[in-house]
Amino acid sequence: MSSVRLMDYEPIAGHQTMEELYLLAEGLKGRRVKMVNSTAIGGGVAEILHRLVPLLNELGIQTQWEVIKGGEDFFEVTKKIHNALHGEQLSLTPRMKEIFLEVSRENLKETALDQDIIVIHDPQGIVYIEAKNRTDAKWVWRCHIDISNPDEEVWNFLKGYVEQFDSALFSSPRFSKGLPIPQFLFFPSIDPLSDKNRELEEEFIEQVLEQFHIPRDKPMITQVSRFDRLKDPVGVIKAYRMAKRYVDCRLVLAGGAASDDPEGEVVLDEVRAEAKEDPDVHILLLPPTSSLEINALQRASTIILQKSVREGFGLTVTEALWKKKPVIGSAVGGIPAQIIPNFTGVLVYSIEGTAYQIRYLLSHPEIAKKLGEYGYEYVREEFLITRKLRRYLLLFYVLFHPGKSIINL
Ligand code: UDP
Repeated sequence: MSSVRLMDYEPIAGHQTMEELYLLAEGLKGRRVKMVNSTAIGGGVAEILHRLVPLLNELGIQTQWEVIKGGEDFFEVTKKIHNALHGEQLSLTPRMKEIFLEVSRENLKETALDQDIIVIHDPQGIVYIEAKNRTDAKWVWRCHIDISNPDEEVWNFLKGYVEQFDSALFSSPRFSKGLPIPQFLFFPSIDPLSDKNRELEEEFIEQVLEQFHIPRDKPMITQVSRFDRLKDPVGVIKAYRMAKRYVDCRLVLAGGAASDDPEGEVVLDEVRAEAKEDPDVHILLLPPTSSLEINALQRASTIILQKSVREGFGLTVTEALWKKKPVIGSAVGGIPAQIIPNFTGVLVYSIEGTAYQIRYLLSHPEIAKKLGEYGYEYVREEFLITRKLRRYLLLFYVLFHPGKSIINL
């Protein structure tokens, strides 16, 4: 992967897009940026940073990525806060606040803050803003979560920190909140040249299926997701079972655990119990180094599901659309930003609806194919990493020229 250079994106993104990136970067050369998040592996944010950081560096913007260090107790608190931002009720105890603040402050002691811009991803590192007066940096809070309907107590606690940032970035207009700081819309993106998304030889795909003992005798329905209740893997099995009464198929649930998610094991047990030894249900627990395998599973699938109950953006949807797959996704979080109903995919609202759409698409392969093709084009236009780079470069300009409505490039 490290051998991929910016110019390799030109055949996919187009010459004009690349020229624009070089032009924008010219005026920002030498600027220093720090990205902070809470895990180096697992989950969408880590996925994005793995490519974004080297590309910004290649454009001459010195970008450093730092991962917050914390113990189990810290990640238990941050997971609860994460779920509360998604709408679950939570009473933040004084002990929870103490753990959250102490770990952040410990991390801060070892953090150099001599950059021009500091981007904190999600709530885990939000307390870093306490160090704002130690720096001349512009501070950005990049929120990947749908916070349109958060637990009020938790949001009020975090809001005091958010308001101190210079700006906030959200993945969808619906996710944002009333804030006294400028807010920007930043769709997440995928890297078309990463192991997760690049083209694969058919032979390799076959090999991966063999490795996981998945025969290719029936249509394959797949959901790739961490084993997390918010991804509703149990609901996926129920929908598959309803559809299977009418159309024979296999179900693949592929996922791993993220190092900042302590709930994975419990959910995996629930999923195994629901699958009840069905030989057509394949539950794959994948290590974090499985990008090529996930790519192969997505490419081998007839339909991809993303039946989340809540969702940030849903990078798995973007990845599936990029592979020209018909996607059935819940109408939550950022999924409707990617699925234009019955054009780039199908939106669903229930287990029954999911089952109906599985059955419909399996029996209308020509419609399924069209959805996949339009989905691919939509991702090419809107959700590739080159788009994301452009958005970051424009943001940096705006931060360095506060109050200006015209910026001379
Ligand atoms: N992913 C992975 N291994 C897994 C499960 C997911 O590499 O076992 C990847 C998946 O392909 C996607 C990202 O992790 O790139 C998940 O991002 P998404 O926005 O869908 O959900 P999140 O996990 O951030 O809630």
